[in-house]
Amino acid sequence: TNPQDKKILEDREIYLRMYVRSAAYFQENFVSSKGGMQRKYLLDRGVSPEMIDAFQIGCSREDWHGLEKFLLSEGYDQDKAVTCGLLVRNDQGKVYDRFRNRIMFPIHDLAGAIIAFGGRAIDSSEPKYINSSETPIYTKGKHLYGLYQARRTIVRDKRALLTEGYLDVVALHQFGFTGAVGVLGTALTQDQVKRLGGLCPRVDLLFDGDQAGLKAAVRAAEMFLIQGIACNVATMPEGRDVDDVLHGQGPEALGKILDSARSGLEFCVQTISRTYAPRDIMDWVRRFLDSIPGDDLRAYYLPRLATGLGMSETELRRSRFTSASSSVSETTGAS
Ligand code: ATP
Ligand code: MN
Ligand code: MN
Ligand code: MN
Repeated sequence: TNPQDKKILEDREIYLRMYVRSAAYFQENFVSSKGGMQRKYLLDRGVSPEMIDAFQIGCSREDWHGLEKFLLSEGYDQDKAVTCGLLVRNDQGKVYDRFRNRIMFPIHDLAGAIIAFGGRAIDSSEPKYINSSETPIYTKGKHLYGLYQARRTIVRDKRALLTEGYLDVVALHQFGFTGAVGVLGTALTQDQVKRLGGLCPRVDLLFDGDQAGLKAAVRAAEMFLIQGIACNVATMPEGRDVDDVLHGQGPEALGKILDSARSGLEFCVQTISRTYAPRDIMDWVRRFLDSIPGDDLRAYYLPRLATGLGMSETELRRSRFTSASSSVSETTGAS
């Protein structure tokens, strides 16, 4: 290895150690008197001590320099702590803790290393959640919350559950749905789809029962279907998410919702037919079919799409090649 690569590897090791130590610091806060409010908040929401352990949940203090002092006391370099996103340096050059007075959720990679944090405010502070920035050890959209804890179940059951939030993942694991992972705030990415698809052939989506959740579920379902990964979509009651259902109505209620999940294709077609104008529906269909990389997979979806849209397969095939714009140019070309 050349000296530059060696330096990168050495730095990476230091960042990972800092994350381990920071997680330990947050966990210590959580069980000490400093974490009384955060602990009460989480227990009031029904999170079990076992889950707090399994997900290494902790909390940051109401202190601009709590973690900074801790890391410096352990001999870590301030600049490096800024580079790896634990501390922030503002325009005036002042350095302070990125996460303050928040419940801290460590984000692990598949090997169990902590590479980032999510932090939830326990008061009305905005934003409600803060995630780590992009750093040399964390690329947004490459990881899934809970995948480290869920990986064995996912492989064993040949199925993953995908949900939106930290507390949705934790609640699912707590009630025995241990193949659950979360998307971590951003829209689902191609990397995340491939990562899950590499572990199992089927993903069930459990997004929030609101407009944002519905939109996100359509987009996510499309992405899995295009990659040939089977997916089902469960619809949460209006205004509820998985965490609300599990703690409010119990695991049997969620089991029923999962049993009544629709296939991803059916869900997309129904949602789109209900909410799009006819012309936009056909645009969606064309875009969907064109995105599919293989003819076999396209041939598999065609009759199912046709049925869902109430068309014959022939009509659907024909419409695929006569978009609104191309029929216009054909007419002008003929005249
Ligand atoms: P809670 O139940 O604690 O109120 P939630 O998970 O139901 O939280 P949502 O508003 O439904 O919260 O958001 C779903 C997920 O999206 C969050 O868990 C978090 O991962 C992410 N998220 C939400 N708001 C933000 C934000 N402002 N910045 C970054 N990520 C966010
Ligand atoms: Mn939501
Ligand atoms: Mn939610
Ligand atoms: Mn919630």
